[in-house]
Order: sequence, then structure tokens, then C-alpha cells
Amino acid sequence: MTSGEDAREGAREHARAVEKLQALVRIPTVSHRDWSLVDTDAFDRLLVELERQFPLLHERLELTRIPTHALLLRWAGASSERPVVLMAHLDVVPVEGTWQHPPFSGDVVDGSIWGRGTLDDKGCVAAICEAVETLLEDGFVPAQDVWLSFGCNEEVSGEAATLAVEELVRRGVRPWFVLDEGGAVASEAFPGVAAPVGVVGVTEKGVTSLELRVEGRGGHASTPARMGPTARIARAITRIDRSPMPASTPEPTVELFRRMAPHAPLPLRALMANAGRLGPVLTRALVAAGPEPAAMTRTTFAVTTLSGSPALNVVAATAKAGVNIRIMVGDTVAGVLEHVRRVVADDEVHIDVVEQNEPSPVSPRDEAFGLVETTIAELFPDAVPAPYVMMAATDSRFFTRICDRVYRFAPFRMTKAQRESIHSYDEHLGVDAFLDGVRWYRRLIERLPA
Ligand SMILES: [Zn+2]
Repeated sequence: MTSGEDAREGAREHARAVEKLQALVRIPTVSHRDWSLVDTDAFDRLLVELERQFPLLHERLELTRIPTHALLLRWAGASSERPVVLMAHLDVVPVEGTWQHPPFSGDVVDGSIWGRGTLDDKGCVAAICEAVETLLEDGFVPAQDVWLSFGCNEEVSGEAATLAVEELVRRGVRPWFVLDEGGAVASEAFPGVAAPVGVVGVTEKGVTSLELRVEGRGGHASTPARMGPTARIARAITRIDRSPMPASTPEPTVELFRRMAPHAPLPLRALMANAGRLGPVLTRALVAAGPEPAAMTRTTFAVTTLSGSPALNVVAATAKAGVNIRIMVGDTVAGVLEHVRRVVADDEVHIDVVEQNEPSPVSPRDEAFGLVETTIAELFPDAVPAPYVMMAATDSRFFTRICDRVYRFAPFRMTKAQRESIHSYDEHLGVDAFLDGVRWYRRLIERLPA
């Protein structure tokens, strides 16, 4: 082939890869906590579409269907000694807000693919599958077993991921490392840092929810008693709000700052480079800088739901408040509960644990992390690879049961606006960014050591 033909063939391949992602975005696989409210037909269609788009992957990999619509696939490598798991999820969150382009259109406009799931997380599904499919076309055999785990309810429970873990346990598979969504090649990651940062999540906060409840006599609103259920709940809430848990800068965040330091404005450079030694100063600066930086330093409490009396003229017999807590690495569910009981300091306030998850252990930065890091450096030479603590939860937290090295990184360039569009409106992924992501997964698989 001439180089002109080569280029045209390459362009056709790229167009096909993009069309596949567009087709996945057009199938509205919205998950819901109550699975009876889910359009399961959409999930059925998505699985059919994947099979149509990636025939070799479906033919050559060993496929296990995980209830209800999740997939676990094994690509046999030259060795099964150090298996790796590449993860993504098939479900998306519902549509929010007003979009510039219809959320399930998958339209390509101004060099981007638009739609719910392009970033979270069908972009990863399509990029992983395209990487595997094209490697299979080339007759490539990975050095190690490569497992693909695609959940179907990440956004609501992650139950499919727990079942995938069960299946791996049953088969005696102990992954060398697991890679899921999470970080990205993030531009505008830190004020004044011009270089994009390739952030790889090495731990994630634990999500825990409490319900605070006060019971009373109720009665007519014309003769209220003092400190009724609503007043007590209100007092408990303000006490929690006024008493944050201690802040500190965890080790992965210190390392993140250390790596960004050479790219930071001069006045900040020394502080960031010496983040370890200057820990308390850095922590205070982060807490003062606003809710997002503050969340990097400590366990957070958000009172999200509130209820009292159903009628304006009836005193509440029960008042309730829901508290969503994100537990920082280093803190525990038990410690958080103790803190809440102590600051609320009211025996009339009953505290029920609705859900509890400890923060994930911090994954080491050894050979496997090095592999992820060098693949970032190769495909995104302008980016600074760095570990970080994830604020949000991913399906990969369940894999910490069977794997010490769980990393969270989606190999896509994302602007601040794009990161903010996740779970919000105007979610879109650059066409070139998507194709770079495909190349990144290919290189990662090619680089797996014997
Ligand atoms: Zn996601």
C-alpha cells in the first residue's frame, strides 16, 4: 500500500471505531436502584450490539454472563500467572439538565462524540473492546491472561461487580492488577498547572450513609412543645456541620503535589515539592481553598434528605435526616460513627447505618503502577502521571478483596468542563481523545510483561 492508501485505511478504521461508540451511546442503558424500573430491553440490545461490533472478541474470548446483564470475559494469554482485569460499566445515570445535543444521539459535533455515557463509561467499554478486537485481528497473544469485567449496575449498587469477583474467586483467579474508570488525563487540574495531569486513583473514599431519627408525640401545631423532633434533628445537623473530622493530607496526595510541583507557578512550587514535610500547612491551605480541595483532606458529611410532618398544621411525630458520608483513607466506619454520636451528643437522636463501606486500601506503586504510568507517558507525553485519592466510588472497590493493586484511570483527555459534565449535562468525548484511549489500552496490553 502507498502511504496515501495507508492513511485512508487508517481513517476508515478510526471512523468505524467512532461509529461503534456512537451506537453504544444511542442505547439508553439507564440503571436504577429498583431493577424493576429498568428498561432491561435496552441492556439486552446493548449486549447484542457489542456482539455485532466485536465479533472476534466474542468468538475468541471465554464469556461468562454475570446477572443480570454484566459480562466477564477471559482472553487467554501466554501465561495465567499474573492475570490483569480491565473494567468498565455498561450502565449510565439518568439525563439531567438541558443539553446542547440530545443525550442519546451519539452525534459527532465539533470533533466530539456527544451523549450520556461517552465519558462515564461507554467510552472505556468501546475503547477496551476496540483495542482487544484489533489486537485479535493482528493475531496478537497477550503475555498474561486479560480479563474484561463490564458491570451493569455500577451507578446504583455495583452488585454485578461483586458477582464477578465471586466468579473469579471460584476460579482461583488472583489478579496482578485491576484497572477501572476513575482518573483521566486531566487538563486544568490545578490552578496554575498548565500541563495535564494523568491521575491514577490508588484508593477511593468509602461511601457510608446514616439516618438520624427523632420520635416524639406529634400533636396539633397550635400547641407545640419545645425541642420537638424537628428542632432536635435541626440541632443535630448543625452540630455535625460545625464539627468536621480532623483534616490531613494522605500520602498519595502528597505524591500528587510533589509531581505537579515542577509545573506549578513559582510561589507554590516549594510548598508542593515539600508537601510531605509541610503537610499541616498544605492541609490548612486545601481546607481554606473551598469544598473540593477540602474534600481531599478529610471525611465529609452531607445532610441530603430531610423529613418531618406531612401536614403544615401537624407537629412531626418523627423527624429524619439522611447523612451521606465519604470516608477518607485512614478513617473507619466505626470511627465516623463514634464522631457523629459524640458531636450530636443527644440520646434522643437515633442513628441507623443505612449503608457502610470502608475506604479502599491504598494500592502500591510498584511494577504494575509503573506499567500504567509509562503507558501514560508514552501516549500522553505532555502529561504528568500521578497517583491520587478518588472522591467518587467505582466498581473496582469490590476487587480489593482479591487484588492488592487496583488502579482507577480512563485514558482520555478531559477538560474541567468535561469532568463536570459527568452525571450532569453536555457529556462529550473528543474523537481524537477516544482514539488515543484505544491506542492506550492496546499499548498497555502489548506491554504486559512475561
Ligand atoms: Zn462510572
